[in-house]
Amino acid sequence: MRTLIKGGQLISHSYEGKYDILISNGRIEKIAKSISSDGKYTEIDVSNCLVFPGFIDMHTHLREPGYEYRETLNTGLKAALHGGVTTLACMPNTLPPIDNKANVSFLLGKSKRLDLADLLVIGAITKGREGKELANMGEMKMAGAIAFSDDGSPVTNSHVMRRAMEYAKVLGLPIISHCETLELSDGGHMREGWFSTYFGIHPIPDVAESIMVGRDIELSYLTGEHLHVAHVSTKRSVSLIRQAKRDGIPITCEVTFNHLLFTDEALSDYDTNKKVNPPLPTRKDQEALYEALEDGTIDILVTDHAPYAPHEKEVEFQRSPFGISGLDLFTNMLFEVHRRLGIEMKKLVEAATFIPARLYHLEDRGDIKEGDLADLVIFDPEQTWKCLPETLYSKGKNTPFVGKEIKGKVITTLEEGKIVYDAEKG
Ligand SMILES: [Zn+2]
Repeated sequence: MRTLIKGGQLISHSYEGKYDILISNGRIEKIAKSISSDGKYTEIDVSNCLVFPGFIDMHTHLREPGYEYRETLNTGLKAALHGGVTTLACMPNTLPPIDNKANVSFLLGKSKRLDLADLLVIGAITKGREGKELANMGEMKMAGAIAFSDDGSPVTNSHVMRRAMEYAKVLGLPIISHCETLELSDGGHMREGWFSTYFGIHPIPDVAESIMVGRDIELSYLTGEHLHVAHVSTKRSVSLIRQAKRDGIPITCEVTFNHLLFTDEALSDYDTNKKVNPPLPTRKDQEALYEALEDGTIDILVTDHAPYAPHEKEVEFQRSPFGISGLDLFTNMLFEVHRRLGIEMKKLVEAATFIPARLYHLEDRGDIKEGDLADLVIFDPEQTWKCLPETLYSKGKNTPFVGKEIKGKVITTLEEGKIVYDAEKG
């Protein structure tokens, strides 16, 4: 069976403009200005819609195993498809943590059986994510892990991080570093600055992040290992990474939509749905993030999807855990970044498709071109909808967008040519 996607405005690395897409056997067979169906193909009319490659979210927390009350693979992967994400990677801070081959295999096996979005698994750097002893990274690679990270916690011991980088280098997989100096974070709840003083909230200084970024850059220089810095949020971090790239150090990094869309000022209402780690940036830091995204210092866009149950978030700001739910709103948040900041749509799309696909060697995806898998997102930029808890597939309703009117809507998500999300059917 062949499907013809007709009249959409493509925005991808290879194509930009109005094109028809012919899909057969799960792949893109042909792209042309006009393909006529003559009744031979199933036709989907997408005129007035944007067509993106299926998005790739390299930083999510799906909570399984151990925290199924927050999220399960089933709800998380459905939230992904609703948000236009067809490929995503999950972090290993589960209970037990993903620090051995059995747990990697469990997640990969289960996600295959669910047959929703494609799941990639990131293994822990250290056993139990305790930062003391290296996990068996070789075994986890054999089981299918695509990178290593203790995300949620830093690897505080520099010697352990050095050894981890040396091993990962041999295995040819990147280390994703959660850069934080816990002594400096000192149990704080928001970014240090004028607003933390004004709101009377115990703060986290910006250098709690950049000091660790600096250390890891030096370890990447020493070992030659590909370092990927998770959720960069400060001007100082960005400036260190920019210089490291100039120096030829194999480093990449990501920014979350949260840090592009909100600043510390937004915490005036003490809304725990905006409490996140690293904390929301100051205006000055946020401007540095925009600039770094524009000049390519920041490589990729991620959600850092961190779902929590209502009883965990509906508490005083100081007692709330860090994290924002994001998968359901992936395409919407990307569009919002474009609308608010005026950053070229193609550039943002590439940072969430083509570039992560290249970094993680994901073949045949992350682009719209002939021969690639037909992972596509159909998005209507004019439709509006109200984001209510029940409209989100994720169990985590902890997003500042809840209750808000949102412009732009994912109409259909296709994975390997198959409709896996359809707004009309819900
Ligand atoms: Zn993190």
